[in-house]
Amino acid sequence: HLSEEIILETRGLTKEFKGFVAVNGVDLKVRRGDIHALIGPNGAGKTTFFNLLTKFLLPTRGTILYRGTDITHEKPAQTARRGLVRSFQISAVFPHMTVLENVRAALQRGLGTTFHFWKPESSLYGLHDRARQLLAQVGLQDFADELTVNLPYGRKRALELATTLALEPELMLLDEPTQGMGHEDVSRVTQLIKKASEGRTILMVEHNMNVVSSIADRITVLQRGTIIADGPYAEVSKNPQVIEAYMGS
Ligand code: ADP
Repeated sequence: HLSEEIILETRGLTKEFKGFVAVNGVDLKVRRGDIHALIGPNGAGKTTFFNLLTKFLLPTRGTILYRGTDITHEKPAQTARRGLVRSFQISAVFPHMTVLENVRAALQRGLGTTFHFWKPESSLYGLHDRARQLLAQVGLQDFADELTVNLPYGRKRALELATTLALEPELMLLDEPTQGMGHEDVSRVTQLIKKASEGRTILMVEHNMNVVSSIADRITVLQRGTIIADGPYAEVSKNPQVIEAYMGS
């Protein structure tokens, strides 16, 4: 893809809950510039794996390398400052603020942290402009003054993407970005992700195989905490073990 550089690597990453192994020795490599999909049946360990990457959980064993640096024992905020950012949950968007205010709030939250575009001397006008730009990027320009609570579900997810993009992530973690959406929203959000991937890396948990097949460069399949297949979509989707895992889910 853009390069062969490995932006994120896990080595033997393991998480046990009272003896139950939810993530079991996962060796994953994510290449810079890729859209990399993480798939697997319910209970496979995908959420736990994401929680390890964001430091929401500490691993029992194993290592996380980001751009070659061991970040395993870093604090969550420190990891986020490096540009490894998980999409905000809908609950992190303020329902009684307008759509534009939410993006501005996200931009302000980013102040003083990583963020490449932001300079201390930037005016509030710059912030406002940037917020408008982000709204346009996710197709919400006509919703700017709507109260967030009134947005249809698919548009709320697009707003969540905008508030995440406000933090200028280098590697963006997306957790089931099309979950619960109708066909139209799914195709719109899929295109948004594709566009958002320009100049960055995306690792996403996604159940919808149409979405995965249309935008993922590589996929990793987890089952019972271990990787059962990994590689370009075209290869992995033909793997009999993968097909079987999906039948059972
Ligand atoms: P997925 O996201 O792929 O559906 P999860 O990571 O949510 O899978 O869960 C993997 C396994 O770990 C499941 O069997 C789940 O019940 C178990 N698990 C997850 N979190 C905890 C926890 N905090 N305590 C005990 N077991 C957990």
